[in-house]
Amino acid sequence: MNIILLGPPGAGKGTQARFLVDARDMVQLSTGDMLRAARSSGTDMGKKVAAIMDAGELVTDEIVIGLIEEQLTTTKAPGGFIFDGFPRTLAQADALGELLAKVGQSLATVVEMRVDDDALVARITGRYTCGDCGEGYHDTAKQPAKDGICDNCGGSNFKRRPDDNEESLKTRLMAYYKETSPLIGYYYAKGLLQSVNGLDSMDGVAEAIKSALASVE
Ligand code: AMP
Repeated sequence: MNIILLGPPGAGKGTQARFLVDARDMVQLSTGDMLRAARSSGTDMGKKVAAIMDAGELVTDEIVIGLIEEQLTTTKAPGGFIFDGFPRTLAQADALGELLAKVGQSLATVVEMRVDDDALVARITGRYTCGDCGEGYHDTAKQPAKDGICDNCGGSNFKRRPDDNEESLKTRLMAYYKETSPLIGYYYAKGLLQSVNGLDSMDGVAEAIKSALASVE
């Protein structure tokens, strides 16, 4: 079953995608992660997108559609794909439909994670991850049990995203409202949209997503 997790930056898409990967053998396709990987390996494309990402703007449809196409044609996903941070524009949504059809697949559902802007600012400006295993933490909401040591892997190499600051966040939120939020209507009209309360606890949101997926299985 292929699904989209749709929501503004900081809604918890990445966290919930990781839960689904563990629980259901799904494969997470995060265009943000792919672009960050391209940046850190220093590819031409990575260099091209670095400043755009740091400013919180959207990179071109062509680039992200290309990344998704490559994954869809080369990656096996026994439990299906979770699209996280993609699509972000109507053109990307159309392209995803076409790409899935080309590989004989379709979308089972789109789960919108609803959160309010004040909560997003607090979530994003405090978050950081373990650079070794990707476990997520937060300055106030979730600190490691032992200061400076990752609970999951014991690493001590924590990272913050350069675009997780208030200035870039304003641009990212504006991009979300202008370019991405129309997808809510788009998928509603296709009969694919379900919404969950993204302000609930992590486990509460995970339960709501589980029910949303069960309703289309
Ligand atoms: P994310 O990790 O999903 O918050 O993405 C980080 C940044 O990567 C975004 O602010 C954009 O600059 C870029 N990006 C990620 N996914 C997309 C996409 N589907 N379309 C355009 N830009 C994207």
